[in-house]
Amino acid sequence: MKHVHVIGGGLAGSEAAWQLAVSGVPVVLHEMRPHRSTEAHATGDLAELVCSNSLRSDDADYNAVGLLHEEMRKAGSLILATADRHKVPAGGALAVDREGFAKAVEAELAGHPLVTILREEIAGLPPEDWDQVIVATGPLTSPPLADAVRTLTGEASLSFFDAIAPIVFKDSIDFSKAWFQSRYDKGTGTDYINLPMTKALYEDFIDQLLAGEKHMPKDWEGTPYFEGCLPIEVMAERGRETLAYGPMKPVGLTNPHEPTIKPHAIVQLRQDNALGTLYNLVGFQTKLKHAEQVRIFRQIPGLESAEFARLGGMHRNTFLNSPRLLDSTLRLKVRPALRFAGQITGCEGYVESAAVGLLAGRFAAAERTERTPSLPPATTALGALLNHITGGAQAETFQPMNVNFGLFPEPTDDRDERGRRIKGRERKKLYALRARRDLADWLGIHT
Ligand code: FAD
Repeated sequence: MKHVHVIGGGLAGSEAAWQLAVSGVPVVLHEMRPHRSTEAHATGDLAELVCSNSLRSDDADYNAVGLLHEEMRKAGSLILATADRHKVPAGGALAVDREGFAKAVEAELAGHPLVTILREEIAGLPPEDWDQVIVATGPLTSPPLADAVRTLTGEASLSFFDAIAPIVFKDSIDFSKAWFQSRYDKGTGTDYINLPMTKALYEDFIDQLLAGEKHMPKDWEGTPYFEGCLPIEVMAERGRETLAYGPMKPVGLTNPHEPTIKPHAIVQLRQDNALGTLYNLVGFQTKLKHAEQVRIFRQIPGLESAEFARLGGMHRNTFLNSPRLLDSTLRLKVRPALRFAGQITGCEGYVESAAVGLLAGRFAAAERTERTPSLPPATTALGALLNHITGGAQAETFQPMNVNFGLFPEPTDDRDERGRRIKGRERKKLYALRARRDLADWLGIHT
């Protein structure tokens, strides 16, 4: 049987290679470290955790990433099995002994008879005669490969130093103050949610933005911003009214709660996923520290109890506009021999990257053995993440995303015995129970 090539031996590439090997498919894993490193990696180990040693919450009943852990364990994940063996105490989180974890992942792969590990950079598109390739080169993909992919896909924005905006759960917005309306009533009725600000509130908000604590990694200082995506505090520094004439301009909108009062500024939230459960704060990309974002943005009328699906941040990041470029099994539409996995597909986080690696490995193995790849149901954590990347997210505003319950379809059977909509913690349990049932069906098909 011909080899499948995996480029990049990080979280996603290691998991993808493992899934191929355990399905009986020979694999060549190409990793450029230690000969060539990245700005974040410190060793030559496969599956190195570049920053925190935590794989986040392990609570499968009430937390989407915990549920993803559980699903990956059931699907035979190398990353989760190794993390479980190298776990260190961390409350309800799954944290690992970083070095022991990475060395063990590498040893498992190196010891598998169907895995060949080559320490080399793939400095451009892979040769045409590699008929099946998984590209899992991560957010710090080496520039020659990133440039080649950018040329192939025609995307101007594959790799740039960007600032991302926070995303909130629609359910946590106070609609006694907020309202749905698109500027000048263009678009559908639910594209935007609006939050009004008086002059006094706006002035205070600008003061807080300017004074708020910012985060900027030292070695990335001086890197130019992507001009179409300036951080909100940088816009505020350019002039106190810049935002009121820019993303917060109060025109083309009428507040139904107080139709006679004209707000000084309006914060707009744009629908972020096809399900309509997540909304991003338009123009609010930021390098404010996470705690500062929560504190300052919760002062906006309507966001007092906002729950954030993702906070804003700064990244040097390489990721594809996957909803536009990838098919449902993660293959590049313009060159299906190339399949992508990990953070380069626009998921965010160690666990999510490994999860997408797991799926890419399974899909590639199915293809190599002439089976039809089967997609996990969108009601599972694996399926919700895959669905978001390959079509559920809006291509125009696509940014890397952690797994969260906002990516899942709403449960249909969500009333308690008195007919009230189940909310909060118990609602999360509903998602988890449904996911567990549907995952078992899906895995049953494969085993
Ligand atoms: P990686 O784990 O980065 O693996 C990609 C691999 O490809 C690397 O080993 C690299 O050397 C190799 N490679 C790149 N180009 C080539 C090439 N041309 N040829 C051959 N090999 C190549 N997520 C969290 O959950 N928690 C955190 O604390 C966290 N901190 C982060 C800190 C930083 C600075 C960054 C950049 C990201 C962080 N992330 C974090 C986000 C993300 O989840 C991790 O980057 C994760 O490692 C991504 O997994 P991956 O497999 O897609 O990429």
